[in-house]
Amino acid sequence: MASSTQVERVFNFSAGPAAMPLPVLQKIQADLLALPGVGSSILEISHRSPAFTEILKTAEHDLRQLMGVPDNYKVLFLQGGSRLQFSMIPMNLLRGSGKTAEYVVHGAWGKYALNEAVKEGDAKAIWDGGATNYDRLPAAGALHCSDAAAYVHITSNETIQGVQFDGAPAVGPAPLVCDFSSDFISRPVDVGRYGLIYACAQKNAGAAGVTVVILREDLLSRSQDSLPGYMNYKAHADAGSLYNTPCTFAIYTLGLIVQWLRDEVGGLEAMHQRNREKAKLLYDVIDASGGFYRPHAQVDSRSLMNVTFRLPDEELEKRFVAQAAERGLTDLKGHRSVGGIRASIYNAMPIEGVRELRDYMEEFHKLNG
Ligand code: PMP
Repeated sequence: MASSTQVERVFNFSAGPAAMPLPVLQKIQADLLALPGVGSSILEISHRSPAFTEILKTAEHDLRQLMGVPDNYKVLFLQGGSRLQFSMIPMNLLRGSGKTAEYVVHGAWGKYALNEAVKEGDAKAIWDGGATNYDRLPAAGALHCSDAAAYVHITSNETIQGVQFDGAPAVGPAPLVCDFSSDFISRPVDVGRYGLIYACAQKNAGAAGVTVVILREDLLSRSQDSLPGYMNYKAHADAGSLYNTPCTFAIYTLGLIVQWLRDEVGGLEAMHQRNREKAKLLYDVIDASGGFYRPHAQVDSRSLMNVTFRLPDEELEKRFVAQAAERGLTDLKGHRSVGGIRASIYNAMPIEGVRELRDYMEEFHKLNG
């Protein structure tokens, strides 16, 4: 088990909210009674105070640098989770356009996003992997949006199925909108290829409560004044993410995570390398198991963030999860729609945790195979 100075910590493979980097937790703990030089905690200061203004400005600045966000993009810190974006995106980018929103559905979250878009206007799937229970990405070159598309929506990483794009697919001329909720800041991203990127924080970027939206400025002209205030991207952009009281604690935490990525990990390329190494440890055991561990995702669609697989029967799966927890390897039960096991190995999961899981998987196979 990993240990901090005072408490035993498990290796937590939860899909989110998920494990956070220990140095970030320690920094939060150290500052929780009083931010240095402020005398109050982050939970107690006004969102308009100089201290929070600095925290917000620094978080945005550092995130822009880490990701290489071009100057003609706005970075917004919103609430309502990625679920609210499922509605805000069509409300802002589709409403009044006379066009159609086109969705690539390669997993559960893409489907949920489309379900909200159809409530708002014309929206349809241009690819749907439901026939194979969402175990793969569209084949290269299979995606073509129509000239009438207001935007094309994809999900970078399908958290439930463990299926991940390896970059921005070519879709045609419409702005590409991408849900990065479960692989945000886990690897370099060419932001300029997207019209809008969004991600909730509680997997790779800290605490639940803040959702990051990065959008190209020209798209703001689509937001109609008649939209409810909170739902209008323009209102948030004009107010610098202070349209309402923002989720101050989660923004502060996100800022610390970005600093950790920059200063201790060495940036997104280094993070990507670590994430590839971690995922390989698990996929190698699965592939060498002679069918004992059956992966859900096709080989060329595999996620570096959520490793999903089945065992020969449900009884064994239950035992696998229970015995893992006894060893301090927790939260490995798969989502009910896929079943089996899901090991979520986001940025903050150390390689030692993945090695322990790998060793456990090999042992469990030997004893039960
Ligand atoms: N999209 C993806 C890919 C997700 O994994 C999740 C959460 N698991 C969501 C959207 C929804 O996020 P939230 O719960 O913050 O609304």
